[in-house]
Amino acid sequence: MNYRNVTVAGSGVLGSQIAYQTAFKGFHVSVYDINDESLEKAKERIMALKPRYQADLGASEADVNAAYDRMTFSSDLSRATAEADLVIEAIPEVVQMKKDFYRELGAAAPEKTIFATNSSTLLPSQFAEETGRPEKFLALHFANEIWRNNTAEIMKHPGTDMDVFHEVIEFAKAIGMVALPLHKEQPGYILNSLLVPLLEAAQMLLIREVADPETIDKTWMVATGAPLGPFAILDVVGINTAYNIGHAKAQVTGHDEYKKVAELLKSEYIDKNKLGRATGEGFYTYPNPSFADPDFLKS
Ligand code: NAD
Repeated sequence: MNYRNVTVAGSGVLGSQIAYQTAFKGFHVSVYDINDESLEKAKERIMALKPRYQADLGASEADVNAAYDRMTFSSDLSRATAEADLVIEAIPEVVQMKKDFYRELGAAAPEKTIFATNSSTLLPSQFAEETGRPEKFLALHFANEIWRNNTAEIMKHPGTDMDVFHEVIEFAKAIGMVALPLHKEQPGYILNSLLVPLLEAAQMLLIREVADPETIDKTWMVATGAPLGPFAILDVVGINTAYNIGHAKAQVTGHDEYKKVAELLKSEYIDKNKLGRATGEGFYTYPNPSFADPDFLKS
């Protein structure tokens, strides 16, 4: 892997984090977004990351400033990608938007450039054709707060060249990620393929009145040694996200239990501003949730 220049396309929540993390690890990063207004917002977001890197990683002021100095910003796609070894796409999760973008990108970027999508729910094969270079395209998926939650799921589609797959795995390691290769396309990657069913099963136990959230979490924690149970995880994810998933599943499947989950989350949590850790209350109350009490697992 001899990448030096990386372009991050889309500089919102995840794009600005990916761009800054990549620059922090010594790469030259070109940030691309649709207009100057979006780029100004990205600069503010990135400036706000500096103190997080200092607090969470113990980075020095010189380091966080040097990272910023390795970044350039442009709303001209050809200019932003002129030197790119790799383009990481983090534009909104809208199929048509991504298709249009990849068509434009395929025409603008040099032939050598590898493309990677950070999409959470869409598969690379949905856009492979539009890139004009399916063998140089794959998914590279990060988690929010990338500098702390440093997973990178690298997922090939059937047409991805194996050398490209391995190069991007090396790149992910080079920017400080724990690289997690997926040899086949999988909706939800590895993490959400495991996590979503677990969280859903916990909510089903609750809606069927089998047990309360604390007992369900306690079961999981004692039996597996996990530091958090599913309801504590739901508080981290945020009740709004859990509601959106439940609501969408209720509409797609028509199943009554999904509807009940969504209704419960809305009436008992969202309407009462209990949105999880973000608001200090969800299934637990923070900063001292009961599951963190040393006696929680004993009785
Ligand atoms: P966001 O809405 O915060 O940012 C999207 C950015 O893309 C905006 O700055 C917007 O101006 C820009 N944009 C829109 N159209 C564009 C175009 N044609 N070309 C270039 N830029 C364009 O979105 P986000 O939360 O950062 O999500 C971006 C991608 O990352 C999505 O695919 C999402 O699934 C994925 N993702 C998000 C998270 C998360 O926690 N937010 C985590 C992992 C992956």
